[in-house]
This record gives sequence, structure tokens and C-alpha cells, in this order.
Amino acid sequence: MSDVVRKVIALSILIFGAGLLWAGGSSSNGAEAAKNERDALISSARERAAADDPRLKGGYSYERGGWVFVHLEGDPASIGFQHGYLLGPEIEDAFPAVSAGMMHSTERDWPFFREVAREMLWPKLDPEYRQELQGIAEGLNARTGSQLDVYDIVALNSFEEVPDYYVPWLNKQEKAKNAPNLKSPGNCSAFVATGSWTKDGQIVIAHNNWTNYMNGERWRIIFDLQPSNGYRILMDGFPGVIASDDDFGINSDGLMVTETTITQFEGWDPRGKPEFMRARKALQYAGSIDDYTRIMLDGNNGGYANDWLLGDRKTGEIAQLELGLKAYKLWRTKDGVFAGSNFARDPSVLKLDTPAFDPHNMETSPNARRARWDQLLNENRGKIDVELAQQMLADHLDSFEKKTDANERVLCGHVDTTERGVAIWAWPPFYPGGAVQGKATDSNRTKDMRLVARIGHPCGSDFLAKPFLAAHPDYAWQEPYLRDMKAGPWTTFHAGERPKTN
Ligand SMILES: [Zn+2]
Repeated sequence: MSDVVRKVIALSILIFGAGLLWAGGSSSNGAEAAKNERDALISSARERAAADDPRLKGGYSYERGGWVFVHLEGDPASIGFQHGYLLGPEIEDAFPAVSAGMMHSTERDWPFFREVAREMLWPKLDPEYRQELQGIAEGLNARTGSQLDVYDIVALNSFEEVPDYYVPWLNKQEKAKNAPNLKSPGNCSAFVATGSWTKDGQIVIAHNNWTNYMNGERWRIIFDLQPSNGYRILMDGFPGVIASDDDFGINSDGLMVTETTITQFEGWDPRGKPEFMRARKALQYAGSIDDYTRIMLDGNNGGYANDWLLGDRKTGEIAQLELGLKAYKLWRTKDGVFAGSNFARDPSVLKLDTPAFDPHNMETSPNARRARWDQLLNENRGKIDVELAQQMLADHLDSFEKKTDANERVLCGHVDTTERGVAIWAWPPFYPGGAVQGKATDSNRTKDMRLVARIGHPCGSDFLAKPFLAAHPDYAWQEPYLRDMKAGPWTTFHAGERPKTN
């Protein structure tokens, strides 16, 4: 059906529907009830009209284990349209929470983020990702009637890099007085192992995502991307965002990717390309550790600076790419393990990119978890597999206090339990953040595009919003967005799978 024909049909439905309501409204219904009915009718007419859009061909989604599995395929505009349409309700739910968080921490208004998106980020995006982002805005609008446009979507995509990387850099440039305390976040615990370290000698990779619970409880999408160009991708992700962003993903050429952020990283290059695009592009087009490194370095803007943990199923080789802005370092091996818990370790990166970070203070979350990874991985050398990885992601041993305690220093973080908070990330006491979900896979699973994932704290415990907010009124501003974060079961996801019917 042509666009014009579809629009005419949609319009006819709307006019006919409005006529019916006018007839009905003139009897006994109140004006408000009539308006509600009219809105419902308009919205269902819009959905029916949009459901025939040819760009939706091949896309589908369903819920399982607390996750939304979404399959997107085709050219960039179609992938975007399917994304915006199929995840419309999730984007509508996530956008207010994310944007409120961005505005709250930076003390900047939404027009500021839109302008950054339009003036700084958009011009540096490759055409295919512009088309995809435009598609998301159009698909979202078709599904829900949302007024968000492509610059709102680009700003949403930058939610990790603009507030905590660009804005502190900008405040410094502008010598802003009373600038808010913004720090690059400490997101995630992860490892990648190979050779004599794993049970089958092949690669095992695992990651849990640390972030504030408000965003984290919405980080529940499993994207199965089948783009017309590049490799097939299976990754976890966030509604409306084109990169995994936390990050965990595999591609059909056998590349396995995750990361943890670099604590107290400082720097930004306004001429660079957005990190969210480079990360997506690298997962889509890299068939080797070298390709991956090259794509991440091309136009490095310093945003969301990470220690990337990589594996190549084809060779059994793993790598760690510590990607600062002024310096970077690539380690690689076919027999070893790399762990991440938000610490930099290359002397040049430490000196040039994280001048404030103290790698020797064992009391801090990154260093305490680094010590715990060393201990746990060494104890299990030769035994590591996906099942063991799941247990490691749920670990609660505090290496500093040498006791079990679900706090900010353990691999499965629970910062809401501790009055210490995490000062080096500007997370105040009892900050509602920590490990919000976990994923793992290995070489065999990657070969047929499978991974396992658990929503909520990887240890399986639930976070409950109401008692938390009652006990910690400092976080009352999150009340409209903060929800219970209940843990689901470890669940296997497979690229191309369909909902189970029974
Ligand atoms: Zn836990």
C-alpha cells in the first residue's frame, strides 16, 4: 500500500470515528468521557494504519523472563522504524525517566540537550545511523502519537556520554561557577577468559550492568538485529538507543564484546564522533579485535570512556582495549583472563586521562572489586563456564572488609544499602544504583547466536521502591520514575527465535 493510500485510509477512519463520537457525545456522556473515547479511537486508528507500514516487515517482539526480545531487520530506516514502533511503549516510559535524570544531575534544561544533539552530535553521525534514528522517531510517532522528534531521540542515545563527559568538560571550559558535581560513572563488573582459564578452553564472557535503578530497571531489551549491511547482532539494550550502551553483545562473525567504564575519566573532544555510534558500528562491522579497535578509535570523542573486553570466537583470542582519549592501550592473549570493574591500569591512561583516580585505595568500589575478580578468577582457573560466570556476577564478597555484604564494593553492587555511597562517581549515600541485570555467553553459544540474561540484581534479590523512598526522602524527586526492580530467572535468548506457543 502506498503512503498516500495509507494516509487517506487513516484519515477516513479518524473522521468517521470522530463523527460517531460527536453523535454519541451529544446524548448523555460528559465532555471528558467523550474526549477520552475520542482519544482512544484516534490512537487505535493510528495503530491500525501504522501496522500496515511496509517498513515493519519482518520485525517482531515479545516478552520473556522480564525482558523484551525484539527482532529488527532490513535497511537502516526500516530497522529504526521497527524499533520505534515495536518498542514505542517502552520508549515512552523510558524517556521521561532518563531525561529527568540528565536534567537533574547537570542542572541543564531539555532544550540544552536537544541543541547538543542537533549541533554537535548529529553532524558526525554516519548516514545509515541518521536514517535509523529518524526511523525510531517515525516509528514511535506512528505507534503512540509521541511528539518526540529525531533530536530528542539523539539526545536520549547520548544519555551516557553527554551528561557525565561533555557537560563537566563544558563547565570547565566556561569556568562555570557552582557547577554541579559531575563524574564519569562507574558502570559494571565484567570479565572475558580463554585458554587454560575456561572449562572448554574456549572463550567465556560475562557482564553485569551497574547504573541507577531508575534507568536500570528499563534496561531490559534483547535486540536481535539483522541489518542489510554488516553482521547480525544479538545484544542487550535500552529502549530507543541504537547501541547496547551498557554494553554486551555478540555478532555473527564471532566477535564477543563487553566493557566497564573508566572511573574518574576526564576529557571530551567536541570534534569526535558520538560514542554510541562508534560502539554500535564496531559491533555491526568488526570481524576481529583489530577491526573493533580501529572503529572505536576512529573519531574517539572521549565520551563514555571504557575498558572494552573483547573475544574472537574464530581464534580463541581475547583482548582488553583501555580507551582513554589522550592515551589508550590494547592487551591481547589466547590464554588468559581480563576483568573489569571500572579501574584503569595502563600508566599512560592513568596519568593523562584519569588524573584523580587512585588505583591503590583498596576501599573504593573499583579497586575492591578488582581484588575480588583476581581472587575469584584465580580460584576457578580451568573451571570457568557460563554457569560459573552467572554465580560470579552475583558475588557479594567485600574484599576490603573481607566479609559477605551486599554493598558498593561487591561484584553484584547494591549501593542503596550503604551510607558510604560512591563518592568517586558522585553517587551520594544510599544512592539507588548498583547491578541491575547480568548477561553471559561463550564461544559455542556465540557460534549459534545465543546468550543468557537475568533481569534485576544478578543475585536474584528484589529492590522495592516504596520502602526505599520512605526511608530516603533525598531521592523523592525520583518518585515518579522509580519502580520495583524484581529479579527474573536466568533466561536463554537466541537470535531469530520466536515466542514459544503452548
Ligand atoms: Zn546482589
